[in-house]
Amino acid sequence: MAVALIVAAGRGERLGSGRPKAFVTLGGKSMLRWSVEALQSVAAIDRIVVALPADSLSEAPPGTIAVAGGAVRSASVREALRAVESGDPVVVHDAARPLAPARLFERALAQLERSGADAVVAAAPVSDTIKEVHASDGRTVARTLERSRLWAVQTPQVFRRAALERALLAAGEETLAMATDDAWLVEQMGGVVEIVESSPANLKITTPTDLTLAELLLEEART
Ligand code: C5P
Repeated sequence: MAVALIVAAGRGERLGSGRPKAFVTLGGKSMLRWSVEALQSVAAIDRIVVALPADSLSEAPPGTIAVAGGAVRSASVREALRAVESGDPVVVHDAARPLAPARLFERALAQLERSGADAVVAAAPVSDTIKEVHASDGRTVARTLERSRLWAVQTPQVFRRAALERALLAAGEETLAMATDDAWLVEQMGGVVEIVESSPANLKITTPTDLTLAELLLEEART
């Protein structure tokens, strides 16, 4: 059976709510609860581990295993993975993406099973033109990337357990701090990562504007 890890240990300071982001309410329930309920409805997943701030462990939703998160996001993933000795594949999801539908987790797991890949990550096609700037001044354009091959990567990300374990164990603290997603750590080890197409509506909630947008999307889904 698969195991799911939800990382919810961020402080969410950019949201300005004064409490950990995962506990901010959206459409009548916490962001964390939206993800837990979606994952609980996926038949292939039998355990859900939630990485939380150390002082909020008692607030873990019923039916989940709570662990204290780490100093950076991928360290929280590592702590959550350590909490369950078995379970393969491993689904990693950010509590900051409360709108991920159960079907997306199922599609990612099905693709991992079919493919020979080490990981499958949800991603949406990019609609903006992306330019890279020079590090020296952070302003002058160095190059323009070819948009047709660009994907904005989200969570869920699903992994063969051995690949994720190897990647997290091999990474030093500095590498973990650089990782903006876990698939990158697998890529660093030479692993094969595939994308599964997702919707841009699988928003990552970072700012108050994202929260307003998510409320609107939920309202639309209800009508
Ligand atoms: O900060 P950011 O929005 O990139 O965080 C993405 C996800 O990682 C959030 O769900 C957040 O709670 C989680 N996180 C964590 N441990 C950290 C930092 C972030 O679990 N130390």
